[in-house]
Amino acid sequence: MVSVDRSTIWPYRDAEPGEFYYQRYAHPTGVEAERELGRLDGGHALLFSSGTGAATAVALAFLSPGDTIALAEGAYFGTSVLFTELERWGLRYVEFDQTGPPPDGADLLWLEAPSNPFLTMPDLEAAAAHPGRVLVDSTAATPVFLRPLEHGADFVLHSATKYLAGHDDALLGVVVCKREDDAARLHELRTHTGIGAAPDPAYLLLRGLKTLELRVQRQTETATELARRLGEHPAVQTVRYAGIGGLLSFDVAGAEEARLVETSLELITNATSLGGVESVLEARARWEPERVPPGLLRLSVGLESPDALWTDLDQALAKLSKRP
Ligand code: PLP
Repeated sequence: MVSVDRSTIWPYRDAEPGEFYYQRYAHPTGVEAERELGRLDGGHALLFSSGTGAATAVALAFLSPGDTIALAEGAYFGTSVLFTELERWGLRYVEFDQTGPPPDGADLLWLEAPSNPFLTMPDLEAAAAHPGRVLVDSTAATPVFLRPLEHGADFVLHSATKYLAGHDDALLGVVVCKREDDAARLHELRTHTGIGAAPDPAYLLLRGLKTLELRVQRQTETATELARRLGEHPAVQTVRYAGIGGLLSFDVAGAEEARLVETSLELITNATSLGGVESVLEARARWEPERVPPGLLRLSVGLESPDALWTDLDQALAKLSKRP
């Protein structure tokens, strides 16, 4: 059974610190979660305060001023926001099409499987053949559908806030390293910067992991069916779905149409984020207008009945044809 230990200190024994002594270094709930995450992805896992905290840690631990990151274009926009922030500290990043070969000269390839919200899958073979180190943000695929370390990646990153925790109530990130010495370096940096995860979110993550496989299998079945039905709907122009997981996106004609769908939903929540048991949808142009079409709607499929979800989408999309 999972339990949560909220202590920030543990007594020394015979004046010697034991495995746990101060929470910023490590705590029992986090270590238990890391054991489970390491098993799922086949490597050495470390928890962070968020997915973005995890990304910050990788950049600071393994790159130096003047180094270049090749980032998958169309990947989670917050990752490019982070790298732009780090440009002031001498990091450079370029974007590339992750379905093809990565650019020469990059020190770290940053892929996303599948990308959010464009749902492309990276060419992992081409990435593994590149001399740079490889990180796969596998938030939307989860270890149920993809284990990137088995395909030559050096690091897997998850916003555990999403599918791994799974209930929209815990903010967490994880990096799983292939090499033990990389995990040791990351642990050191995490301690020095104080961006680890607290015990309570780690506890919620452990509880969420117990149902991960059941949840994402069901979400995949429902998303596959909804993608099919959306593809046949006259008000829908494009559907993007990678065939795994619960994340998809589709386009309606423009910003006004997207807003009308958002405000017409009755079951699906109009909110950001993804990976929870309840379905959420939003127009992404409010956050990343320069990168996405104005009518792009991102849907994170939850565990509601597929028919109930379709009924909701269908009645919202029907409003588009009834417009004056
Ligand atoms: N990576 C992906 C693919 C995401 O979708 C997100 C958040 O939406 C993140 C990373 C950042 O995670 P967090 O919000 O936990 O910092």
